[in-house]
Amino acid sequence: MKAAILKDKERFSIEEVPTPRPGPGEVVVKTTYCAICGSDLDRFTTGRGIGLIHGHEFSGRIAEIGEGVEGWSVGDLVAVDPITQCNSCYWCLRGEGNLCPNVGGTGMAGSSGAYAEYAKAKSVQLFRVPEHVGEKAATMAQCLAVALHGFHLSQTKIGDKVIVVGAGPVGLQVLACARLGGAGKVYVVEKAAGRKDAAAKLGADAVLDPGDVDVRQKLLGLTGIGADVVFGCAGNPQAVQDSLALAKPGGTVVLVGNYWVSEISSEIVMWEVSVRGSRAYQRADFGEAVELIVDGKVNCEALITGVEPLANIQQAFEELQQPTTQVKTLIAP
Ligand SMILES: [Zn+2]
Ligand SMILES: [Zn+2]
Repeated sequence: MKAAILKDKERFSIEEVPTPRPGPGEVVVKTTYCAICGSDLDRFTTGRGIGLIHGHEFSGRIAEIGEGVEGWSVGDLVAVDPITQCNSCYWCLRGEGNLCPNVGGTGMAGSSGAYAEYAKAKSVQLFRVPEHVGEKAATMAQCLAVALHGFHLSQTKIGDKVIVVGAGPVGLQVLACARLGGAGKVYVVEKAAGRKDAAAKLGADAVLDPGDVDVRQKLLGLTGIGADVVFGCAGNPQAVQDSLALAKPGGTVVLVGNYWVSEISSEIVMWEVSVRGSRAYQRADFGEAVELIVDGKVNCEALITGVEPLANIQQAFEELQQPTTQVKTLIAP
């Protein structure tokens, strides 16, 4: 099969590799789409995981079924939860598998992923998707699960004023969750044109561009005292500081973006801001994400701004390093 292999920092090569075969309890999925995640972009930019096939946000159809797998047929449309956990440690037994020290999966933790024609998964990773939902929407379940997990941790209440810093795919889905969850107002901070448009379409009350306005001043005016809940979804140190500065005294900041280093800000003490880190999601969040997509509660397809064949993966990643009109790009291997 054809697969994209990260050969070096910022360099993919499309190569012919052996097609995976399912072991006991596993299936092989023919990849329909595999999205580009911020963490994939980070691996591309920094060269983490050279020599691997990356890609973990994917949907596909079952192509081959291993020994002992029941309840699935060749051709079934599935969203694949790329994360596997040990199911026997302290955290797994509490339902907090995202904290499992033995985490693994497909396209994560050093294993092969789905920027390839086929990918392997354990049958427990599969979520059934009805045909009418479609393969593109099914691909968005993983990213929605990340947003949902952060949203649940925030304990946002009906009527809360919410600010989302960074309107990438996760930030936009957090916005959608906040709307569904009853937030009174949702304000978004973003500078890329395509992402500002998407935020407005998904129902943001205002979208503020730090290049145009003094975001802090403006949001203090709009909220009166700062936000009840701020979601930091931009994955850079400045966005972390901005998120802390935008919460009301006694408010909550949930950091959903990753891959940054920041000094702890004194706002945490001075204004008693509660900060929560949100790591990936739990299995239940993934199931909930699939249900929301199936029920049409979140319009995930509105975030898909490009679909590229595997042959164009290099260019697709380069474009996302400085996004303009792009929100979510899917690769179709
Ligand atoms: Zn991801
Ligand atoms: Zn575990």
